[in-house]
Amino acid sequence: VSAKKSVAKVVTVVGARPQFIKAAVLARRLREPDAPPVRQVLVHTGQHYDDNLSDLFFRQLGLPEPDHRLGVGSADAPLQTARILERLAPILRNEAPDAVLVVGDTNSTLAGALCAAQCGLPLVHVEAGERIWRRRQAPEEVNRVMADHLARLCLTATRQAEANLLAEGIAGARARFTGDLLFDLFRWAVDQPQLRTVTPASLGLEPGGYLLATIHRAENTDDPARLSALLETLAGASLPVVVPLHPRARAALGDSARFGGALRMIDPVGYFDVIGLLEGCRRCVTDSGGVIREAYFARRPSIVPMHGAYWPDIVRVGWSLPVGHDLERLAGAIEGFDPPERYEEGLFGDGDAAGGIFNAIAETLAGGLGEDVWQPPGAGLFAGRQS
Ligand code: UDP
Repeated sequence: VSAKKSVAKVVTVVGARPQFIKAAVLARRLREPDAPPVRQVLVHTGQHYDDNLSDLFFRQLGLPEPDHRLGVGSADAPLQTARILERLAPILRNEAPDAVLVVGDTNSTLAGALCAAQCGLPLVHVEAGERIWRRRQAPEEVNRVMADHLARLCLTATRQAEANLLAEGIAGARARFTGDLLFDLFRWAVDQPQLRTVTPASLGLEPGGYLLATIHRAENTDDPARLSALLETLAGASLPVVVPLHPRARAALGDSARFGGALRMIDPVGYFDVIGLLEGCRRCVTDSGGVIREAYFARRPSIVPMHGAYWPDIVRVGWSLPVGHDLERLAGAIEGFDPPERYEEGLFGDGDAAGGIFNAIAETLAGGLGEDVWQPPGAGLFAGRQS
């Protein structure tokens, strides 16, 4: 921020459900009395456009109407990325922000990051540095790695992510642990039961007497045989299993799908409903990175039917169990996976990740961003240009 300009202008690019939720936390923080000197301009790429994956979150979480809507709609990853690039570039040039902020690991994250880099604007990546060390099964990992390496500032939800970045040469003033925006939101939302509409009671379920399951990752939905087998395993549970079905999973199943046994399929629900359903559940089965963390915040165990260990801090303390594609393990865990008594606090920060993120941005911009020379530790030895 130059001496003339005391308020930093940040363009935040969002496009998918988890990003609307996190952008809403940032927007709330900017409305507080001790708000940091940042103005957020919101761009909605249109990657998610269903009401219950998009506008619902603007309404429920008080996210201001986007300043720009790109309306890219569904498309495969390369086309969606290209469309965002094409429509975002003129907006970034016009807005000429002090920085561009992207969150997480979607196509909107990658496109926003790349566009900022190509327009010569400083990039901030929130929720940087998470790795499961797999790229083929998890296209999101590619998006996250790319955004991290393009960013001037990588802000992490966990200390593990900060360590991952260091291992890739992203360290010092470029990387900082600020905590998880979802934890900020959870701490507030958990005391707002009046904002819930779909609740265990409204579904006729007893507290502790059901499981919650969410399935939407390509790894689980792209192969219809895998998706059906997964749902059949859930259908065999001894307790009812509530499944707010993501449109991607519903589309993959087709109209003819039959759901029996323990399954209770419902439409995707609002954020506050997820928190209520998590609090009431015995265990959850999920391939959502957000829900794994929210289950931990709500002190409920999560079972993760995916290859790789997502949110490894939670796995390490014994509250999340990755079962890969092993359906027998999944079936066993559904009946018997219980967390340890010990619960570790503070893994996701102090509950003010939003404040930390804005302060990091303001400090970095106030520092004048420095010379745009960046060399990973050791690289100079081989490049012969150490100074
Ligand atoms: N979520 C929601 N309604 C649902 C399922 C999930 O509001 O029916 C919320 C959930 O509480 C979390 C976020 O969506 O905050 C996670 O988004 P998603 O599962 O789409 O993405 P991921 O976390 O895997 O990136």
